[in-house]
Amino acid sequence: MLEAVVDAPNPLAQTARAVNPSPSVSVYTRHKNNCSKNSEPYWKRCNCMKYLYVYCDGRSRQISAKTRSWEKAEQTAQKIRASFDPASQLQQQLEAKSEAARMELIVAINEFAKEMARLNREDATRAKYRLTLSRLQAWCRIQALPIHLLSQLDVPTVRRWINSWEGAPTTRHNQHQRVITFFNFCIEQGWIKENPAKKIRKVQPEQEETLPFTPEQYDALLEATYDYDSRRKGTNRSTVNSRRVRAYSFPNLLTFHDAPTSIEQKLFVMYLEHRMRAFQGSFHASPDYALWYGWSEMQRDLTEIKEQAAELRRAHAASIKTMPRSEGALQ
Ligand SMILES: [Zn+2]
Repeated sequence: MLEAVVDAPNPLAQTARAVNPSPSVSVYTRHKNNCSKNSEPYWKRCNCMKYLYVYCDGRSRQISAKTRSWEKAEQTAQKIRASFDPASQLQQQLEAKSEAARMELIVAINEFAKEMARLNREDATRAKYRLTLSRLQAWCRIQALPIHLLSQLDVPTVRRWINSWEGAPTTRHNQHQRVITFFNFCIEQGWIKENPAKKIRKVQPEQEETLPFTPEQYDALLEATYDYDSRRKGTNRSTVNSRRVRAYSFPNLLTFHDAPTSIEQKLFVMYLEHRMRAFQGSFHASPDYALWYGWSEMQRDLTEIKEQAAELRRAHAASIKTMPRSEGALQ
């Protein structure tokens, strides 16, 4: 119904072929029988359906323009003509390309942020992306020729930015990954063709090994505790005695029954047994067990530890007072 048989006798077919052997599209009216203009296929102003005569690659077709308006049919014809025309195709591609090339960085970043929000990414994740992309914007602003467009961020430019990063390898690695994700989004949106950040190798993140404190770090930590302990203000900390005390100033939670003092053994039981019971009892919805075998035990541990701590501090204060002055000079 919509597409008439090609061989149907139509005077237009002959005309179009004779006049123009190259692809062509022309509008005509297929009048109703009762239309007063039914002998004039090019009559535009009646209410009969408009059709398109399409000639292409030696074949002709008649297609309904699906409208009674000549103007609308002409618009459709124009589009089909444009699709025949290589120059026009190129023009369209260029227009699409230049539209993408005009994409502003700030717009792209805002769209990316909206997408992150829509996908319900965690606040902390979104904050990290915000920080990374605000750094990118800041860097773009301070360039000799400030960068505003997404398309200006080619590989050499992005490389210059990435080379300017400071900080730990792991931090730089993660930031690089966020930049890649952002540019991937831009590719998906059709704004850019390739991911400039992906063409630059990421630094290897550090193997984050948990190392024990070095003696220097240990000393520094210990020194800091004095600053937070107002009771010790003004006392001489550089004494042999305080050195001896330092050896046990931090309980080691990795010790078990081999903890060196009874107060630390108490802590080991509190930490690994009673705390675990309190947790497990709660986890298995057993309040009675969690309370009496876990929480209550922990409270009793705490009381004992506090008592012993007070005793130790008393003994320590007394030992400082009675210490000969000369011993302090050994430091
Ligand atoms: Zn008509």
